[in-house]
Amino acid sequence: MSINYQQILNEIVEETQYLTGKGKVADYIPELAKVSPNQFGIFLQMMDGSSYHVGAAHTQFAIQSISKVFSLSLAVSLLGEKVWERVDVEPSGTAFNSLLQLEYEKGIPRNPFINAGALVVIDMLISELKKPKEDLMDYIRMLAGKNEVHINKKVAHSEKQHGFRNAAVANLLKDFGNIHNKVEDVLDLYFDMCSIEMNCAELSQTFKMFANHGVLPGTEKQILTRSQTKRQNALMQSCGFYDESGEFTFTVGLPGKSGVGGGIVALFPEQFTITVWSPLLNEKGNSIKGMKALELFTTKSELSLF
Ligand code: GLN
Repeated sequence: MSINYQQILNEIVEETQYLTGKGKVADYIPELAKVSPNQFGIFLQMMDGSSYHVGAAHTQFAIQSISKVFSLSLAVSLLGEKVWERVDVEPSGTAFNSLLQLEYEKGIPRNPFINAGALVVIDMLISELKKPKEDLMDYIRMLAGKNEVHINKKVAHSEKQHGFRNAAVANLLKDFGNIHNKVEDVLDLYFDMCSIEMNCAELSQTFKMFANHGVLPGTEKQILTRSQTKRQNALMQSCGFYDESGEFTFTVGLPGKSGVGGGIVALFPEQFTITVWSPLLNEKGNSIKGMKALELFTTKSELSLF
């Protein structure tokens, strides 16, 4: 029996209405707090090329921590197993910007998707790449299959002005010897990367490689090996939602990654990628409507990994 995906997306819009206005935009980054809070979009990209969407699926937003999937992927393709000498692969169970755990664990971040881990990954990229920012942007453009992927300069500036906690995390990492380059350079690239703007349609497209065993869709290009891709997806499953990763696995049952811009991308290998966006967040920093929308999607479609 074929599934009526468009109807499912339409139903999700109706059934999440009750959450409209619930939650908070990420006001610790003032520029993000200016986003109109009640926007909501979904873009479902099937691996056979068909797609479905509802709402603000083509409105740009700051992808924030979703970008950490791209930086990790590039680092793994350049350094392979060496990445794991400096970053662990365990769920953190603490906030994405926690300092406490980092001190306790002597500067080895729990995983590459909390801020500390992402900063170490950025440090690796700065050491490995000739032109780190351009090369990282080009890598993301390649995955996205388009030339127009941009950084929102206002958001980046706002993060740089108010990123005291990230600066503290980066300095602590430096003190433990797990940042090799200048702290300023690492923070700079980290904030720029978090401030990349994309829409739901573009994110779903960009994540197809991860649902395609590491091969860039429409090409023969193996970006990550099958094993690296499996591990990347495994990390999204276990660590993609900070200290709500268990909840996401429990309610949605797909690997995914969230960002404080309100976006969430999730995927089912060989089947589909799906991106939802709604800027109002819960206290863990994940989109409230986005989480519910994905729960409804895997329940209604019966397409969950479990
Ligand atoms: N730029 C944000 C920060 O560093 C990213 C956090 C997130 O999306 N969870 O705080």
